[in-house]
Amino acid sequence: MTHQKVTIIGGGPAALTAALYLARAEIKPTVYEGLLANGIAAGGQLTTTTEIENFPGFPEGLTGTELVERMKKQAEKFGTEVITETVAKVDLSSRPFKFWTEWNEDAEPITTDAIILATGASAKRLNLPGEETYWQQGISACAVCDGAVPIFRNKPLAVIGGGDSACEEALFLTKYGSKVYLVVRKDYLRASTIMQRRVEKNDKLEILYNTVSVEAKGDGKLLNALRIKNVKTEEESDLPVNGLFYAIGHTPATSIVQGQVETDANGYIKTVPGTTHTSVEGFFAAGDVQDERYRQAITSAGTGCMAALDAEKFLSEQE
Ligand code: FAD
Ligand code: NAP
Repeated sequence: MTHQKVTIIGGGPAALTAALYLARAEIKPTVYEGLLANGIAAGGQLTTTTEIENFPGFPEGLTGTELVERMKKQAEKFGTEVITETVAKVDLSSRPFKFWTEWNEDAEPITTDAIILATGASAKRLNLPGEETYWQQGISACAVCDGAVPIFRNKPLAVIGGGDSACEEALFLTKYGSKVYLVVRKDYLRASTIMQRRVEKNDKLEILYNTVSVEAKGDGKLLNALRIKNVKTEEESDLPVNGLFYAIGHTPATSIVQGQVETDANGYIKTVPGTTHTSVEGFFAAGDVQDERYRQAITSAGTGCMAALDAEKFLSEQE
């Protein structure tokens, strides 16, 4: 039976930073980076975007793929083993923990003393007609990441959603766009009162209540309109926008540990504040899978570092 000291599940900034720290501490970690796990390439969400301009240390910017490839190389340099397989099943009922990958689901499990879960999250999408064509060509699920790119400068933009994220992203986008529409399906915002007030007070922002999105339209290359429908009047119209941002929530990738560890109401792994400890001793969580709020590469890398230090301490206390 194969036994590992620390197993890291995931292949994004959280997993690779955890691996780097553990490898430098001479605890040779094994990373299962996934094979299109959760529909995302090994390397994580950063592989789905173009330029990263807000990761410190790279003043000229670099592509998301290049950034995670560099992280992987750095982790491997110090002895991390990276396996391109998806973890299919985890048993946290007793230690050592057991797990199976998609290729050995019927075989003997692999055992491990500690697990760091860094499987990330994925932005919910609407799957509108035209969405595939204009994804990253005007449509994005991250205003903070993509809002500053030239195609959105001084152009009308739209944000779909009525929660805190949508309001925060809409406010953020007023710095770049000529006007920002907040497209809300109900007749009220779900966001906190303070956020609602900020949105209502901003002259560049217009809230379209009772409005659903019907189609993303453009010239074949770039988005230039969103077809919308008023659900009260059933009237349809084209909203001329060059940017469309989804802020309708995220789905954390926690299915492999469902029911075995505490999660919050939205399925994110609960960690003890200020640490990466979960409700299961020896099982740590880092990155977007435990972070509903910040969801950035740098914060994921930061909690990856924390998870490595927490796991290292846990292992030394066991010895
Ligand atoms: P992820 O990056 O989500 O990686 C998780 C990985 O785990 C994935 O590769 C997934 O396939 C794998 N996985 C899932 N389940 C399993 C399993 N069972 N077994 C094995 N592997 C599994 N942040 C910034 O700071 N700056 C930006 O400019 C920026 N731009 C972005 C643009 C876009 C379009 C998106 C979607 C996000 C962007 N972000 C940006 C956010 C950033 O990408 C995320 O916050 C960060 O990648 C989260 O890192 P993570 O390691 O927690 O998880
Ligand atoms: P959220 O609170 O779940 O809101 C999602 C929004 O998207 C809701 O308005 C929802 O509409 C809408 N929506 C969902 N599916 C939709 C669809 N198919 N079509 C159109 N609209 C759809 O998610 P969130 O805004 O990402 O916030 C998540 C959590 O993080 C919340 O607890 C929030 O308070 C917190 N947060 C806090 C801050 C802050 O304090 N600064 C910032 C960001 C997030 P309905 O209302 O109609 O369901």
